[in-house]
Amino acid sequence: MSGFLKLLFRNRLAAMGALVLMIILALILIAPLLPLQDPDVTATADRFKRPFADGHLLGTDHLGRDLLSRLLWGTRLSLAVGIAAALIAAAIGSAIGITAGYFGGRTDNIIMRGVDMLMAFPYILLALAIVAALGPGLMNALIAVAAVNVPFFARNIRGVTVGLAGREFIDAARLAGKGHMRIILTELLPNVLPVIIIAMSTTVGWMILETAGLSFLGLGSQPPQADLGSMLGEARSALISHPHTSIVPGIMIFLIVMSINLLGDGVRDALDPRLRSGALSRPRATTLVERTGDIPARTDDLLAIQDLHTEFHVGSRIYRAVGGVSLAVKPGECLGVIGESGSGKSVTALSVMGLVASPPGVITGGAVRFQGEDLIGAPYETLRRKRGDRVAYIFQDPLSTLHPLYTVGQQLAEAIQSHHKTSNTEARAHAIQLLSDVRIPNAAARADNYPHELSGGMRQRVGIAMALANEPDVIIADEPTTALDVTVQAQILSLLDDLRRDRGLAIIFITHDFGVVAQLCDRVAVMYAGRIVEEGQTQAVLDAPAHPYTRRLIACVPELGGGRRELAAIPGLPPLVDDLPPGCAFAPRCDKAQATCRTGEIALAGTAPRAVRCLYPEVTV
Ligand code: SF4
Repeated sequence: MSGFLKLLFRNRLAAMGALVLMIILALILIAPLLPLQDPDVTATADRFKRPFADGHLLGTDHLGRDLLSRLLWGTRLSLAVGIAAALIAAAIGSAIGITAGYFGGRTDNIIMRGVDMLMAFPYILLALAIVAALGPGLMNALIAVAAVNVPFFARNIRGVTVGLAGREFIDAARLAGKGHMRIILTELLPNVLPVIIIAMSTTVGWMILETAGLSFLGLGSQPPQADLGSMLGEARSALISHPHTSIVPGIMIFLIVMSINLLGDGVRDALDPRLRSGALSRPRATTLVERTGDIPARTDDLLAIQDLHTEFHVGSRIYRAVGGVSLAVKPGECLGVIGESGSGKSVTALSVMGLVASPPGVITGGAVRFQGEDLIGAPYETLRRKRGDRVAYIFQDPLSTLHPLYTVGQQLAEAIQSHHKTSNTEARAHAIQLLSDVRIPNAAARADNYPHELSGGMRQRVGIAMALANEPDVIIADEPTTALDVTVQAQILSLLDDLRRDRGLAIIFITHDFGVVAQLCDRVAVMYAGRIVEEGQTQAVLDAPAHPYTRRLIACVPELGGGRRELAAIPGLPPLVDDLPPGCAFAPRCDKAQATCRTGEIALAGTAPRAVRCLYPEVTV
């Protein structure tokens, strides 16, 4: 809760809205204790007194009633009715939306057509018709305002529920034997609740206005009872001669609606996990660069990552995801990058083309040189021209990287046409050729399939085809075969191997799998806690690992036909990169750790191309 409040009040506008609303709420709550005059007592001799007149801070109305007193009591009523209407509309609308979305089919059709019919009426006419049928009065205005807003909640919540109802966790709940009501209450409701709260926070101000509108027309609160709408309605005839009688309730309505809307926006941001870090509120086309220190000199490598530092700044916390990584590849070379989840492999790869989301990502040091040109901090257009053309990516999860509404053929053609002037026919022919290159059977027909119509392995091959579309110089493959079965994995690895031999393609292959590294990579770099702890020729590292972490990683790999042996899991967990221990980050898990390992910087040392970051390596390098 304190985290939510901290996030909420980081948004200055939301904090201002909350402050104004709290002041208004405090005033109306203590209204019975304040020395106010009776809001309904008339004194015709005191009609239309101006603000700051004797005993009347905000003046009086056409019947001599004290405006301050009527304002505070009227605000109490308006807020109570608006909030009650929002709660009722949210409860009924959400129940309808969840039911329709969860059951789907005919239930959904019948319910939503009824909702559509209600939405087809202009809502204010509908509210007037309801009040006309029930009779004027504040309670009936509340019912009318709640009723006309039910379809809004039903539509919104139904949309969210439809997206959730087909997800695996709902299937798992069904398989566990849960009934419909339990699934709705324990699985769906907690997931849609933030949406309900957000919708409520942004509509409550609107409902206060609608209630005030009905009272303004004489259909809400009845004389002498005051609410903000009826105060405005009564002041209508004196708008020109005594404007303060309209301005006082008008300003109060403005303050309430503005403060609720600002607070509502803040609540929405604070509840949205993607907005918490500012990722959606201030999107940047490339990763933010705030480099300090010297920029490393150029080398003759095709792609060189030099002393790269990438951090995530979330509030006051700094996550050092990549802490001084240097890697390089030459044409036709394949470099494997291996390490546990969270070791910084993917962030290193994404930093190359400025693809780390900013905020919260910030590149704070080093350089990434492609053919000698430093890409860190390069203009967006420079990076855009190289992304997918000279440096291509194969991402881990093809379902989230392929667009669900376009066929794979269209997406491949788009990847080609974004970098080369090609006719649609040529682009399609090229797309089909690429699909056939990655060994998708019946490529011409498959080009017209949508991503959801393909199996996981096929989607991954489409991702690879897309990376190959423009014959790049470098491919960065981020665990591209993790989701594939071993036969497809072998085909893909052999395809990549052929490409690098035939076309001189350089590959940076990120993986957890030493088997894949052994099969494909010339060299390997082992990462731990955002740094390289060992690197060298693949065979040399596999034959004689120098870093205790590498040795233990290799020991975790089961060997086919190697007989029974205990698989030595590495105890403990990788350290949090916002709180790295001094000295060697692996020390808490290392069976060779000594006191000297826990102090000072440990440098990467050895004879090129072999290097290790350890004071007591397993072998001398
Ligand atoms: S420096 Fe020390 S703690 Fe770190 S890996 Fe080497 S022996 Fe283990």
